[in-house]
Amino acid sequence: MSNQKNDFSKWYIDTIQKADLMDYTPVRGCIAFKPDGYEIWEHIQDEMNKRFKETGHRNAYFPMLIPESFFEKEKDHIEGFSPELPWVTEAAGEKLEERLALRPTSETMIGHLYSDWIKSYRDLPVLINQWANVFRWEKKTLPFIRTSEFLWQEGHTAHVDEDEARAETMQMLNIYKEVVEELLAIPVYDGQKTPSERFAGAVDTYSIEAMMKDGKAVQAGTSHYLGTKFAEAFDIKYLTKENRHEFVHTTSWGTSTRLIGSVIMVHGDEQGLVLPPRVAPTQVVLIPVGPWKKNPAIMERLDAIFKELKAKDIRVRLDDSDQSPGYKFNEWELKGVPVRVELGPRDLENEQALMKARDADEKVAVDLSNLVESIEQELQTMQTRLLEKARAFREEHSHTHIDTLDELKKHIADSVDNSEIPGWILAGWCGDDECEEHVKEETKFTTRNIPFNPPAEKSTCINCGKDSKHTVWFARAY
Ligand SMILES: [Zn+2]
Repeated sequence: MSNQKNDFSKWYIDTIQKADLMDYTPVRGCIAFKPDGYEIWEHIQDEMNKRFKETGHRNAYFPMLIPESFFEKEKDHIEGFSPELPWVTEAAGEKLEERLALRPTSETMIGHLYSDWIKSYRDLPVLINQWANVFRWEKKTLPFIRTSEFLWQEGHTAHVDEDEARAETMQMLNIYKEVVEELLAIPVYDGQKTPSERFAGAVDTYSIEAMMKDGKAVQAGTSHYLGTKFAEAFDIKYLTKENRHEFVHTTSWGTSTRLIGSVIMVHGDEQGLVLPPRVAPTQVVLIPVGPWKKNPAIMERLDAIFKELKAKDIRVRLDDSDQSPGYKFNEWELKGVPVRVELGPRDLENEQALMKARDADEKVAVDLSNLVESIEQELQTMQTRLLEKARAFREEHSHTHIDTLDELKKHIADSVDNSEIPGWILAGWCGDDECEEHVKEETKFTTRNIPFNPPAEKSTCINCGKDSKHTVWFARAY
């Protein structure tokens, strides 16, 4: 296993391959999700679906191929996405009259359909989500984090007015924040994107941003208020109660399989994955130890524990393969299984088992009589503990004392000298695109978001020194 601290990206690639989450394919930038990787996604889907449905949304499905003319209807949208679009130009041996893009996102196709589906105020709001694959032909790819094809969900809603659409935009951002924090144990800052980082075609874009263990940021989810831009481009009008024709106000919001990469980069350690119990494909592994094959009572007892855990919907594995216990311990640690239980002849004599949480240093002895309760409790406390650890790590590497570009450059140089990560910095910004661009050119630090609840307020722009309009998180980002 490569060293996480010294070569984070090599550690990441090694870990996801050895833990059997994915594989590369001959198509550049397109990966296969293996069952353990895909199951993390399924747990994310389950939780998201639950919350989407609680808030009145329903799932639907739209085509993957989008006519070129659709993109041209919204000018910012085509400008933003055209460099990354793969095209279908031929089918059944003939050149197509109009080429078709593999969707990078579905605002255009959905806009086209909504103009037909929405006629009157009675048809509103439309609250639809789609689970799909999308394509963005990226130059630099990294499994789960940035791939040419990825899986995501995209919500597309239409509303009678701005207030209702903005409320929807914020509601979905909050759902993302809750799911990412509660399910994935990843703390995030929610806030507004600067204009240069906005979704192509949005009026306002909001995001949740997470810090990885190498100090870089991942944009973990976005929610956009699209105003009437797509409604105007696709003529989505409705008849009001007063018999007037008005454009609808639309939103869109998405999270993707980069959340899988984020979980690994936030919680993993030198031994491999560390998975929060709520998303771990296997939550508990039971391992017989010592001369267990000569002692059938060991497997009988483990079978009983296995069944009891199953009955409680705990995702449990019983590893009775002929590998050595040491090999098995390493293997399941690498895969990030939250809780390991060992049972050998001596433990059984004492009516106890050894239990180890993936992120703990020591094993603890637990009475067999309340082993199942202890496991359940450990899964819960570990979930909370991982969020707290990630939060503490983020606080430690979030810097609020840097006020000028020179200070930022010095901070980065000092970090390199001390083999530390530069982390994130909270700084003032005057609102000028050129100041944002200059900081990026000089330091590779980009604006992440303007947090709703910044830990401090900054009064001067980090680049020009003029009065700041916004307090912004800056960081290097994936
Ligand atoms: Zn400035």
